[in-house]
This record gives sequence, C-alpha cells and structure tokens, in this order.
Amino acid sequence: MILSQALSRIAPSSTAAMSDRAFALREAGRDIISLSVGEPDFATPAHVIASAKAALDAGDTKYTAVAGTAALRKAAALHYARDLGIAVPPDRIIVSAGGKQAIFHALVATLDPGDAVLIPAPWWVSYPEIVRFAGANVVPLETSPAGGYRITPDQLEAAITPKVRWLLLNSPGNPTGAVYSAAQLQALGAVLARHPHVLILSDDIYAPLRYLPGRHATIAAECPDLADRVLTVSGLSKSHAMTGFRIGLAAGPEWLVKAMGKLQSHSMGSPSTPSQAAAVAALEGPQDFLADWCAVMRRRRDMVVSAVNAIPGLSAPVPDGAFYCMVDAAPHMARFGDDQALCLHLLDAGVAVVPASAFGGRDGFRISFAAADTILEEALRRIAGAVA
Ligand code: PLP
Repeated sequence: MILSQALSRIAPSSTAAMSDRAFALREAGRDIISLSVGEPDFATPAHVIASAKAALDAGDTKYTAVAGTAALRKAAALHYARDLGIAVPPDRIIVSAGGKQAIFHALVATLDPGDAVLIPAPWWVSYPEIVRFAGANVVPLETSPAGGYRITPDQLEAAITPKVRWLLLNSPGNPTGAVYSAAQLQALGAVLARHPHVLILSDDIYAPLRYLPGRHATIAAECPDLADRVLTVSGLSKSHAMTGFRIGLAAGPEWLVKAMGKLQSHSMGSPSTPSQAAAVAALEGPQDFLADWCAVMRRRRDMVVSAVNAIPGLSAPVPDGAFYCMVDAAPHMARFGDDQALCLHLLDAGVAVVPASAFGGRDGFRISFAAADTILEEALRRIAGAVA
C-alpha cells in the first residue's frame, strides 16, 4: 500500500461511515432508522427532473465549459442576487460537483503547509479534513450551546495571526443549526476589516432552510467592504433536494474563481451536463415550494427538540436553520465512556446518529430530522429506551 502524505493526514467522512454502517446492518436484515445523513427526504421537484430529461433527449451529453454553462452561471447570478443579496456577474461564479468540491478547490488552491484556517467548532466534517489535506493547520474556534454555537468578535480577534489564511463561516450551520444575524456578521466583519490578509469562506448552502423571521444574512452582502475576499458557497443539494445531481456554486473575487477553475480543469473537467440543465430549472423555476418545505422541517424540528429535551440526561437547543439537532448527552458519558460508544449503543437499538466528536464537538450526537414524522417519532422512542 502506497499512500501520499496528504491522504494520510485525513480521515474518511464519519457521517458517511455511520450511514454506510446503517446500510450494511439493514442489508443484513436489521431494522435500522438512519438519521445520520445530511439530505432532505423530499422528492426532487418534477420540473427539475423534466429539465434533466429534456437535456438528455436533446443530446446535451457532452463536456461544457470548465466553470459551467453560460445559462447556469446566469441563473446562479440571479440566485445570488435574489436569495443572498449579493450582486455578482456570472464570470465570478463557478459551478462544481456539489458545494463540497467548490470548498475543496478553494482551499486546495490557496493553502500552503504552515498556513492556518479558523473553523468554528462544532464544524461540518469535511472542513478540517480538506484543510489538513492541503497541508494547513486547523485552528478551532470553540462555540457553545449557551452562545448559540456562534463565534464572537473578541474570539475572532484573538485567534487571528499572520499565518491565518481563511475564516470558514457556515450559516445556517451543520451540525448545530446556528444562524448569524446581520448585526452579528457586521460585528465579525469589523474585526476582519482590520486583517486584510484573511479570506472568508461563507458556506450558505442551507440558506433557504431557516426558521427565523426576516431575510437570510450573509457576510458578502452585510460587509460590502470585504466582498473582494469573500467566497460565498451555495448550491441546490439541500434546498432543492438535489444531492444526487452534484451541483454546487461559488461566487467570489475573480482571481480566486479563476484559480478554482484552473484546479477544476484538471480534477473534474466540467460539471455534469444534464445536472446543469436541471440546476437552471431549479434556480429559474418556481421557488414557492421552498416555504412549504421549510414549514415541514420546522414542524419536525419542534417535535424532535421537545422529544429530546423530555429524555432524562439529553438536551438540545433549538436550531434556527438547516435540519440537524445537536444533542448534549454529557450526563450519560460516565456510563457509556464517550459519544462514539453511545452512538454504537443507539445503533444497536436501531437508530443511526453521528457522534458529536465527528464534528469537533463532544459528549453528544447529531440527529438529522430530514425524515418523515412517523420515522422521527419511532427513532426518538428507540433513543429514549436505549439511554434509559
Ligand atoms: N456545506 C455543508 C455545511 C454541508 O453540510 C454540505 C453537505 O453535507 C455541503 C457543504 C456540501 O454539499 P454538496 O456537496 O452535497 O452540495
């Protein structure tokens, strides 16, 4: 076996590992409810599927431009303006194979060994692994349920050193559901304005799934003076139930989008052609179903959070966005040892969830509530029984 140093610095995705385990147990005949993966259970809208089919029928089965078709980049510019409040021309947008690849390309294109990246913890599993793959160092910015799982301006100021290349922001956040308000972003922006060497990656992939009144706030829109060093990542995987189409979007300064394109030209070539047609339909077509989906997720959130808080020794703050609930199980740790052991115990009881330690957290687990109400109710019953 011959592995590169870069690969040996990273671990496989623990959310994927847990869902693979759940799949394997199911195949072996076990009744397992998997609340471990981050994907909506809604069907992809019919008009989106029709657009992919029409593209195939029309012979759109060949390579496209590396950064995506002109049609999709134009639709993406509409999306950035309409949904995120960011005015960006199509040539400062790149289309990738999912938001994940856009983040991978941005970080690998800009990081060198010895650089540092600030990541609020708990974090989405892939952020630290991509940073380590690029040879850079992860600097966790610890957050707590009491602080709404958000970093503070003072914490940010104290963490910035000359080595820091990026700050990664994710709102609504996976796995915590934390959402930054416009005022909170402006306060962070005031700190960042004093440190022009720091780039900001704002991952807004869950933007349509927020449960607060008012519009979504994102740093490129709230702090226009920073816009030339913000990369705003978006996509359709979560909002439009299109995880399998593998389309992600990123908008940022010209030099960075070009650098990502250079890497993409050798790693992927161009994004899937029928998927790009589907994405145009998703972005330019009706958006009114998003409010209905959001209402469904909000109802499930309320149900899951109150069921969790009714189980002795478990607690969870109310997530303001995305479809995850971070459960604190600290009172049970003496009995189980650690959160991995607790999650294996829950798996044994028929529910797959992901340990908090997979996200740089501890003593708890993440529940994805992107599942039907009856499934969630049964899962919560099993969890209650297993920790009793
Ligand atoms: N960003 C966050 C915070 C995520 O949770 C995910 C998926 O789980 C992604 C980005 C990437 O999504 P995709 O590559 O499926 O578009």
